[in-house]
Amino acid sequence: MRILAFEGTAHTVGVSIIENSNILINLKHSYTTQQPEGMLPRDVAEHHASLIKELTLKALEKSSMSMKDIDVIAYSAGPGLGAPLQVIKTFAYVISRKNSLTLYPIHHSFAHLIIANYTADVDDALYIYVSGGNTQLIVLKDNLYPIVYGETEDIALGNALDKLARELGFGFPGGKYIEEYAKKANKFLEMPYTVKGMDLSYSGLLTYALKLKGKEKVEDICYGFQEHAFAMLMEVVERALSYTQKSQVVLTGGVALNQRLQNMLKEMAEDRGVRYKKVDNEYLGDNAAMIGVAAWHLYKHNISPIKADAIFSKPRWRIEQHLEW
Ligand code: AMP
Ligand code: MG
Repeated sequence: MRILAFEGTAHTVGVSIIENSNILINLKHSYTTQQPEGMLPRDVAEHHASLIKELTLKALEKSSMSMKDIDVIAYSAGPGLGAPLQVIKTFAYVISRKNSLTLYPIHHSFAHLIIANYTADVDDALYIYVSGGNTQLIVLKDNLYPIVYGETEDIALGNALDKLARELGFGFPGGKYIEEYAKKANKFLEMPYTVKGMDLSYSGLLTYALKLKGKEKVEDICYGFQEHAFAMLMEVVERALSYTQKSQVVLTGGVALNQRLQNMLKEMAEDRGVRYKKVDNEYLGDNAAMIGVAAWHLYKHNISPIKADAIFSKPRWRIEQHLEW
């Protein structure tokens, strides 16, 4: 089965073609900005609208296919920013109507987990999903039903990193700049550390770090922020591992690109005799391949696609409800 997949819940617009579980092509383009307000949904929607057709034609051309070779469409239906979600939904609707194809509405976060199963040999993991909009510790029952063991009570880790980066003048997205600067630090700054049971709170840490602007060196602020934020996450991950008794642990989402975070988790997993799994960088941040692979996964589990007229998007959509269409 050949799947044409679209992603566009936030900053990245992507198009991918999957044949069964094989990723034939995975194209993406990310919105970046230096404006002080950061990412504006309207601008992101315009970004996606201006690129999605071109990316689709390129994906077909590069894999020597036409729409006649496609069996089903998959699109990211949420959660995410309303305006960009509308762009993806509309494009998916038009293309499915025009070619009489059915569609899989894919939950973006579920796709971030499932891509680990297909590309990193994961089958019994505690998933640590860290992205711009989400920070969650998840287990998949029967590889289909997510159970959230812990999560942020306020802002997501990526969002906190982006906000700090923006205030420090790095532009959006800023996580990678925080990582770069943290490497050059030579002083450890004590900051607030907030873990509540299995949940986390990053807003206090962020407020504190922002107040240090102009008083401490940028490198030291970045380092202190990262060390505290990641240590908080490691504490709940360690507890979730002992709770769930999972034999593997895997990071997914854009923040998982952070080398320091990867190393912290790897070390902790090794200490506990848990296998550390690594998803290829190409599939960590937002991408359409994960949307296509998730559609294949649903198809394999006998879940039927929807007709074009039943298409929807949901800006707020809990992962536990990913099959509620
Ligand atoms: P996603 O929404 O999954 O594409 O993830 C995007 C988030 O990943 C943004 O908040 C980025 O700032 C963050 N990110 C990307 N690279 C890094 C990095 N090297 N360290 C920390 N965060 C990062
Ligand atoms: Mg994401």
